Amino acid sequence: MPNGDDRALGQLSLAERLARLQTGVTDAAVAVGRSASDITTIVVTKFHPASLVRELHALGVRNFGENRHQEASAKAQELADLPEMTWHFVGQLQSKKARQVATYAGVVHSIDRPALVTALAVPRESPLDCFVQVNLTSDPARGGVAPTELLPLVEQVLEAPALRLLGVMAVAPLDEEPRSAFARLRALSGEVTALAPDADRISAGMSHDYREAIAEGATHLRIGTAITGNRPVPG
Ligand SMILES: *Cc1c(COP(=O)(O)O)cnc(C)c1O
Repeated sequence: MPNGDDRALGQLSLAERLARLQTGVTDAAVAVGRSASDITTIVVTKFHPASLVRELHALGVRNFGENRHQEASAKAQELADLPEMTWHFVGQLQSKKARQVATYAGVVHSIDRPALVTALAVPRESPLDCFVQVNLTSDPARGGVAPTELLPLVEQVLEAPALRLLGVMAVAPLDEEPRSAFARLRALSGEVTALAPDADRISAGMSHDYREAIAEGATHLRIGTAITGNRPVPG
């Protein structure tokens, strides 16, 4: 992994880290014959204060990711004055919190079980954009639906008028080359688009593996530390 980058991370300004990531995304896209304009970079701001989100917004960022409802909801409220914000919920989601998350999140990346679809499939003005998260590991605790259960879950989402399926999401396993894991995700995405041609988006790639994700067709990157710097230790 090309991580010579990390040494100097703390010495760069936020704007420099953002610019460097954007250059990295463009280079990785061009290297595989893709256009960077087909790729959405979501900046994951979990554990960071709302003030950092404000700084990133001033630098032009509009897509933000959070993984815990309480923190996400507080930030969304505090930053309600910022125009054109899209909050992406990327963490494991309890069914009882689902309706609340849908009040501020524009996109939920972590649909992983039938009960969550049921909880999110309540009538609303316009459908909620969502991804079905796939577990690429053999550890059920890592989050995401097992690949063998993916298509039934996708069918359930497609039957819910309150939900609009964008595609599949995954986190690369710790003990596998990310490229091969993302290749499996891409194959699963192909099975999903056979059912739902419009659900062709792929949410994959984090600070350390976004290049591999781009090479395997990722359309939505979820980038934290490479842009924000190290996360504060959660309290
Ligand atoms: C924290 C998080 C990210 C960002 O991770 P970095 O390694 O900091 O880029 C991406 N996706 C999910 C689901 C996360 O929880």
